[in-house]
Amino acid sequence: MQSIALSINKGKCMSLSESKRLESLYTIARALHEQDLDVQALLQTVLSLTGDVIQATHGCVVTLDPNNHIRDAFMLGNSGDSDLERELWGVLVHHGLVGFVHHGRRTIIVRDLTTDPRWPALPPNPLMPHEGSAIGLPLQKGGTIYGVMLLIHPQVDYFDQPAVDMLEAIAHMAASTIRNAIEFNNVRASQDRYQWLFKDSIVPVIVTDLDGQVVDANRQACEFLGYPHDQIVQLPIMAIHRLGTGPLGADRFASLQEGKQIEFRTTAWTAAGKDVPVLVRARRLTFADRGVIEWIENDITPELELEQLRADLTAMVYHDLRGPLQAINTSFVTLGRLLVGADNAALLNLVQVGMRSTRQLSRMIESLLDIQRLEEGQAVLDRKQTSLHNLLANAAELVQPLATEANQRLQFSIASNLPFIKIDQDMIQRVIINLMENAVKYSPEGGSILLGAEVHQNEIRIKVGDSGPGIPKHMQRQIFDKFSRVKYDGAPKGLGLGLAFCRLAVEAHGGSIWVESEPGQGSVFYFTLPLQAQLAAV
Ligand code: ADP
Repeated sequence: MQSIALSINKGKCMSLSESKRLESLYTIARALHEQDLDVQALLQTVLSLTGDVIQATHGCVVTLDPNNHIRDAFMLGNSGDSDLERELWGVLVHHGLVGFVHHGRRTIIVRDLTTDPRWPALPPNPLMPHEGSAIGLPLQKGGTIYGVMLLIHPQVDYFDQPAVDMLEAIAHMAASTIRNAIEFNNVRASQDRYQWLFKDSIVPVIVTDLDGQVVDANRQACEFLGYPHDQIVQLPIMAIHRLGTGPLGADRFASLQEGKQIEFRTTAWTAAGKDVPVLVRARRLTFADRGVIEWIENDITPELELEQLRADLTAMVYHDLRGPLQAINTSFVTLGRLLVGADNAALLNLVQVGMRSTRQLSRMIESLLDIQRLEEGQAVLDRKQTSLHNLLANAAELVQPLATEANQRLQFSIASNLPFIKIDQDMIQRVIINLMENAVKYSPEGGSILLGAEVHQNEIRIKVGDSGPGIPKHMQRQIFDKFSRVKYDGAPKGLGLGLAFCRLAVEAHGGSIWVESEPGQGSVFYFTLPLQAQLAAV
């Protein structure tokens, strides 16, 4: 808390003349105008000049925080006993006039300190008058209250209407100036913060004017692009990177100037003539009162290298694995044909096992590739009108040998009215096979597997039930994520990719997939294919 001494003219009490009031208003306005934008100094100036004008013996300006605690307080008169002063003003804030004005946000006049209940009974002290009148004025602007000014005059009923009008005009003026000072300080603080972030940022940042002329660049930007600071500030941003070719570039610049934030990939050119791929994030900012554009330049060479590696790997899977696998499959098929009629059941059986395994392997490879394609958001490309009856029968035929080997029974519950549906046949068939192979894999010897399909409202619902161990509740969503597996003793080995593929494939068709299961009582996997989307897609 601070106090200021003021020499008070304790002359005869009098109401101020009109010209004196105008002159005082002008003097205070000019003083506030000339003052630095320092809130504390402004409060002091307002109080001391206003106190002078109305010949107050005592007074204060108080600013309060949201919990009603005094933040700043400036007083007229200096007792040299600041603890006592603080205590007395505290009483006025919490039980007296300052508090009333702050809460009510309006001027309050106490005409007689001895009789008005709003004037608290203060402990006997030489600092605060016990007689006279007081006025409390809110310093508020635009719905925000910045503080309260309190003035005390020794004469009872001193504050007539002209004096109140003048004091309210002063309070209004003071609040405007204080608000400006606070806003100015906030802007300055955020500019300081920006400067600090800009200089210390670990990513390259360039600042241009609204025409794209570089006005500043941080150390990382200079190092990344290979220009000293005094050279980079002579360049237009277009000499550092393109915004896009043709109208695209112009559009980007226009949307930046309108205040939109943009993000794009391009190539930055370094001073040494090297091309570097970058992801640029740009936005318009107001800095030191003028519009500028901030360009954050992220070097994306490592990401692109990774993308390339993934593309190479996919190509490798496609060409280097798929090709030989197809050759093996063709050989088995030919061998099978050659063996037709031959009386060698063991050999025939071996060929069939080989054929099944190669088909299974190629389905896995296709699904792996599909996972990648679908994750990248690529559309399902190969939709064809499909008979679901045929699709389900094919899938069942392919899984039947596995079930037979495990001594399991396949059961069917397929509605007769299934419509034709426009789907990627191969993909949906692999979904059904995946679910059925899992059902076989996780069901015990002698168990049974159910394949069902029906029209349900405006979708087709397909289900695959089994008599396996079931899936705990907490895993029933997770198992559809990549590499997610339920761990229990004796669980068959797997990668945890099959159901992830099923989910992506079904979702790409606009459907959904889920499992209903009670541990120990088997599982039923459901998935849907919407009929409405079919109509749109036909
Ligand atoms: P994988 O079977 O190769 O591990 P999936 O993605 O097909 O991969 O399945 C993920 C996990 O879900 C499996 O590891 C298994 O724990 C569980 N799961 C899938 N199908 C069944 C089922 N029919 N019965 C019990 N658990 C299953």
